[in-house]
Amino acid sequence: MSTEQSNEQMPDWSGYRGVLVFIEQRSGTAKKVSWQLLGAGKKLADKLEVPLMAFVIGDQVGHLADEAIYYGADRVFLCQGPELQDYRTRPYSRITLKLIEEHKPEICLFGATGTGRDLAGAIATHLPTGLTADTTELDVEPHPSRLLLASRPAFSEKMMATILCKQYRPQMATARAGVFQALPRDPERQGEIILIPNPTAGEQIATEVVNFIEQTGTVNLEEAEIIVSGGRGLGGVEPFRLLKELADELGGQVGASRACVDAGWIAHEHQVGQTGYTVRPKLYFAIGISGAVQHTVGMAGSDVIIAINKDENAPIFQFAHYGIVGDLFQIVPAITAEVKKRKA
Ligand code: FAD
Repeated sequence: MSTEQSNEQMPDWSGYRGVLVFIEQRSGTAKKVSWQLLGAGKKLADKLEVPLMAFVIGDQVGHLADEAIYYGADRVFLCQGPELQDYRTRPYSRITLKLIEEHKPEICLFGATGTGRDLAGAIATHLPTGLTADTTELDVEPHPSRLLLASRPAFSEKMMATILCKQYRPQMATARAGVFQALPRDPERQGEIILIPNPTAGEQIATEVVNFIEQTGTVNLEEAEIIVSGGRGLGGVEPFRLLKELADELGGQVGASRACVDAGWIAHEHQVGQTGYTVRPKLYFAIGISGAVQHTVGMAGSDVIIAINKDENAPIFQFAHYGIVGDLFQIVPAITAEVKKRKA
């Protein structure tokens, strides 16, 4: 697609400038996807030669405004109040809408989480503008078109579609956790923090969060720092116990290839890959996993990958920083025992 083609009959959007990222948090802790989106947003902002902006909504979340600057934001809008402690569509969307109307960013990015999807959807509908959900690639055409090229798998993941929003602003997209890379955190980085009022303060909001109960024992691969994943090489349900033991010792979580999920050995919430979760942990174990592209696309961005496979030619070794050729039933218990010994 050329700039000429995408420039056809576009309205004058010169009043809209800048990239805006939603910093999603719960109880004062940001979702990793927020920092990853700042990484993606920075590339877009640099290419468009505009500031990277972020916004944080919540109660006592000022530290997250600082963090957003450390992760690449030039300007952070901060809206705080006890009534904003828990996410509710109406106040959060009203604050965001006012922010967008006043500051007119040309691009807005949200995590494709439950909250991000709800907020982005409410805003896009209200403005109205276009929203590309679950993007896996983001780019921009340079000036003058300045179009966001939001790409995502389409037609049962068989092809990539690049979606443009020519007739409305801002251009909006959500992205799944783990797809984009955060910039290194730089606590020396300086930026501007702008406090903004809550336009719904004092208003009676129809929804009320009575209680928030964190489910214990549930899997959250997107936030995990260590993932111990197993594949068909495990041969059944029972050997996942070995992986769980190692994961528990390391403070990590158990992942799996689709082969294991399809076989009914483990639930889909553990699946890593194209039709599962995209993850970027600090440490990823691929145990008895061959390394099919549909799996590696979901874990290749991990900081350190350790592969254990009895086939020295398994493709997974091309992605691994450390490879161990051998039988997982001997190697995994040996690693767990060594970890236990060192912790003792
Ligand atoms: P296999 O390819 O069978 O590999 C098993 C490995 O275990 C082998 O390399 C073998 O050498 C090794 N092994 C066996 N015994 C031992 C032992 N005792 N010790 C050590 N190693 C041993 N896959 C995903 O994972 N995630 C997805 O999201 C996903 N999405 C898909 C979407 C589509 C549209 C399609 C078509 C496929 C998708 N797949 C996905 C499936 C993917 O193509 C592969 O079939 C799958 O990843 C294979 O899983 P595996 O590596 O566990 O099994």
